[in-house]
Amino acid sequence: MKKGKLVYEGKAKKVFETDDPDLFIQEFKDDATAFDATKRGTIRDKGVVNNAISKILFELLMSKGVETHFVKQLDERQMLIKKVEIIPLEVTIRNIVAGGMAKLLGIEEGLKLDEPVLEYHYKNDALHDPLINEYHVRAMKMAKEEELDFIKKRSFEINNILKAFFDRKNLDLVDFKLEFGRHRDKILLADEISPDTCRFWDKETRKKLDKDRFRRDLGDVRDAYQEVLRRITA
Ligand code: 5GP
Repeated sequence: MKKGKLVYEGKAKKVFETDDPDLFIQEFKDDATAFDATKRGTIRDKGVVNNAISKILFELLMSKGVETHFVKQLDERQMLIKKVEIIPLEVTIRNIVAGGMAKLLGIEEGLKLDEPVLEYHYKNDALHDPLINEYHVRAMKMAKEEELDFIKKRSFEINNILKAFFDRKNLDLVDFKLEFGRHRDKILLADEISPDTCRFWDKETRKKLDKDRFRRDLGDVRDAYQEVLRRITA
């Protein structure tokens, strides 16, 4: 597979063309940003760890019938993915109150929700990924009604699979963000699933093992990412 032109560079990843028009290469960087990139840093080997974690989680989901953009891991930092047209929505699922929901509703972090909360955010850095609802999605034609129904159902399915998996690893899956893309007539789970995009708390110690360690200057950032990988490969 020949690596071609850079087609997109985001905060944590680069995407390259390949000699197959249907396939792209996704490369994970060590760069870390938070708060709309006003906070910047590097987490050594984050790209390697997030590539490995995403691969495992995409394969887990695919084994349960969830279609994703993942094709195969190419090397430490790169995976081959199907080319998709990203739907400009960030779908957040929350099992425990933290981060944005704690702030939005003025509640403390840590409340376990009786049922998961799903949020849509419009993927737009300049607008700070604003919280929107289904009416905005339809009115602005970000996704069609049937696409949104599918995305919603899929997101809850993904939550059930991931929650059960992390439970066995002694981690609470607090919340996470998903992105979906159109590929031919299908909607595939895209982007990544990693400590950059999920919150993980140790079930016993409640230690945060995710990007909040970077966002909030809690220390041991590199170790937290490595610990998640160690647990899911154990
Ligand atoms: P919150 O809305 O509480 O900030 O984020 C909820 C969950 O979605 C967290 O696990 C967070 O890591 C993830 N998330 C939300 N927005 C983004 C984003 O723009 N980038 C990344 N990497 N993760 C996000």
